[in-house]
Amino acid sequence: MAFIIDGKKISNEIKDELKEKVAEYKQAGKEITLAVIQVGHDPASTVYVGNKKKACEYIGIHSLAYELEETVTQQELLDLIQSLNKRDDVNGILVQLPLPKHIDEDLVIQTISPEKDVDGFHPQSVGALSIGQEGFVSCTPAGIIQLLKRSNIEIAGKECVVIGRSNIVGKPISLLLLRENGTVTICHSRTKDLKEVTRRADILVVAIGKPKFITKEYVKEGAVVIDVGIHRNENNKLCGDVDFEDVEPVVSAITPVPGGVGPMTIAMLMYNCVNAVK
Ligand code: NAP
Repeated sequence: MAFIIDGKKISNEIKDELKEKVAEYKQAGKEITLAVIQVGHDPASTVYVGNKKKACEYIGIHSLAYELEETVTQQELLDLIQSLNKRDDVNGILVQLPLPKHIDEDLVIQTISPEKDVDGFHPQSVGALSIGQEGFVSCTPAGIIQLLKRSNIEIAGKECVVIGRSNIVGKPISLLLLRENGTVTICHSRTKDLKEVTRRADILVVAIGKPKFITKEYVKEGAVVIDVGIHRNENNKLCGDVDFEDVEPVVSAITPVPGGVGPMTIAMLMYNCVNAVK
């Protein structure tokens, strides 16, 4: 039986640690404020934004909500970000993605001050990560490292295989595993003989975006499997990129969906907000 890596428990531990830190900051007269901008009324985005606000409340971070109409112009959004960049009382700025088609997402991300870039998507944050400098790290990959460390899973010297090379998951998690001295291989849709590569992994991170794609034929016995995927199946139940029932019996540790990587993303967003004060 594999060890089930409990992302809910670990994310709660992190949030409780942050709550204490925020209380100390408050005693020293420092408030932390996160500005959250949502454009339009996409139901999934509304749920994510709501969860972020709830986490802020729990930890003691003040949140400012900006709910803009779908018809807002790009310039109006950029002006709002620039005004928040200038405010000393705002520590972090988050623009909920995706944005409507008439707005250039890259330009929006680049307009957020790197000092307030709590999502870690700004090119300066990404560049800092790639050359080993301090900076905000995007939340899902940072959460995966915490899951491994807090489950006492050694990364140094391990064969780490990442499936996926997206800017928000695949690339940053590869850099973080490298920073932790893993031997890292990145796979993508043009990888030849995917199974042959993934079967070498001591730690397999799956961010492929395809429900239940990874079956036991893709994993080495005793490997650690981190499933980043989130999907709803035909019965409206959540599932990951990994076929959990098939893979769990052959691995040493695995993250479930839900309750694995998912809860870590918001916990690490809160971590970035608290660290924005420094
Ligand atoms: P994405 O941008 O769609 O990237 C998917 C990656 O998988 C791409 O690099 C693609 O390769 C690769 N790929 C696709 N088919 C493949 C195949 N047959 N063999 C090998 N590689 C293949 O996805 P993402 O944004 O990284 O997200 C991945 C999953 O994680 C999604 O299910 C998403 O919902 C989930 N997610 C969860 C969280 C969380 O908080 N838990 C956060 C973010 C994302 P190419 O580059 O060659 O196209």
